[in-house]
Amino acid sequence: MSQQGIGTRCVQAGYTPGNGEPRQIPIIQSTTFKYDTSEDMGKLFDLEASGYFYTRLQNPTNDHVAAKIAALEGGTAAMLTSSGQAANFFALFNICECGSHIVASSSIYGGTFNLIAVTMAKMGVTVTFVSPDCTEDELNAAFKDNTRAVFGETIANPALTVLDIEKFAKAAHSHGVPLIVDNTFPTPVNCRPIEWGADIVTHSTTKYMDGHGAAVGGVIVDSGKFDWMAHADKFPGLTQPDDSYHGIVYAEKFGKEGAFITKCTSQLMRDFGCIQSPQNAFILNLGLESLHVRMPKHVENGLAVAKFLQEQPQVKKVNYPGLESDPYYEIAKKYMPNGGCGVVSFELEGGRAAAESFMKKLKIAAIETHVADARTCCLNPATSTHRQMTDEQLEAAGIPAGLIRISCGLEDKEDLIADIANALK
Ligand SMILES: *Cc1c(COP(=O)(O)O)cnc(C)c1O
Repeated sequence: MSQQGIGTRCVQAGYTPGNGEPRQIPIIQSTTFKYDTSEDMGKLFDLEASGYFYTRLQNPTNDHVAAKIAALEGGTAAMLTSSGQAANFFALFNICECGSHIVASSSIYGGTFNLIAVTMAKMGVTVTFVSPDCTEDELNAAFKDNTRAVFGETIANPALTVLDIEKFAKAAHSHGVPLIVDNTFPTPVNCRPIEWGADIVTHSTTKYMDGHGAAVGGVIVDSGKFDWMAHADKFPGLTQPDDSYHGIVYAEKFGKEGAFITKCTSQLMRDFGCIQSPQNAFILNLGLESLHVRMPKHVENGLAVAKFLQEQPQVKKVNYPGLESDPYYEIAKKYMPNGGCGVVSFELEGGRAAAESFMKKLKIAAIETHVADARTCCLNPATSTHRQMTDEQLEAAGIPAGLIRISCGLEDKEDLIADIANALK
């Protein structure tokens, strides 16, 4: 399947019905699966045979959808999770433990920043944040003996910085650890980080992959390229016997291609249980079937809105990597020649008050804590998600009080621009 075009994979990968079977992926809304003998089921518990016994660990609907996303990203294995937060936590915690260290881009989603900097710190995992624009020397200096992973976002939410994937992959690999990339904003239609050296790719499927604001979800994809055995001392969870599975060594039994996802499913999903419901996986798949049709339209609308905003006297600054004036234009062109996403951020003259009155006047764009949806939505962090911060604190965090994030949907771009023009009056 992975030799086919990205559109064909969006529509068809992951599920091939047999003669007389349902054309659409069936929703297997069952917690459990029936066996004739205990021996049959025992083989599944020993990871000696593949099959289903309990939906917390695996479900056929989820597996079809995960296989489609693995094909889209060019990976060897994938698993769905209940949310993007769960995907990033599992991807990191699958190879980190108390005493481990992570190198992460400082320009990442607030929820992920909190997960790593606060919650994982309570588990004894430490982090060094680096600017995505750091030099190779600065990046290399962030590594420690106990570093186990490098993390970044292809296009960061909400800062819209672009990750130099090759630079981060090179540093990770020279220190014997994998690069994990959250590819939520561009989706595999616009960027496939594995082709540039990323080892593990994650997504909040809640965003463009679902694309209709209907189902919260996440996914982890393994490139199958990282050689755990070559760095066996760093990753004992993959390279030494697992006592909870009769001494299985994941990297030996499932190889580079399957070890990461098998361990993540059989340990973390078993113990934390952040499974995506089969119903949500079905909804996610409906979104995936049109992802390659929707993404170019999101990009077209994002670029049109960014260009319009740039010309308005009331607008102080526009952030959009597709604009030639954007500091990330060249790097975005390298990794995303067809454009990145439909999210634009901009700063109004007049700060918080101007932003508030502007957003009130919008008729098509709704005020929402969401992005990457078919319907255009916007948010002023200073009056919503970051309202506990003073103007000075906001400025220091790179989120000026007048900053507005607008996620351009699939409406006609002329209407979006007219809506914005009216609200700017
Ligand atoms: C939204 C988001 C997340 C978190 O995903 P949820 O599905 O909301 O848990 C993680 N990373 C990025 C880049 C996001 O935009």
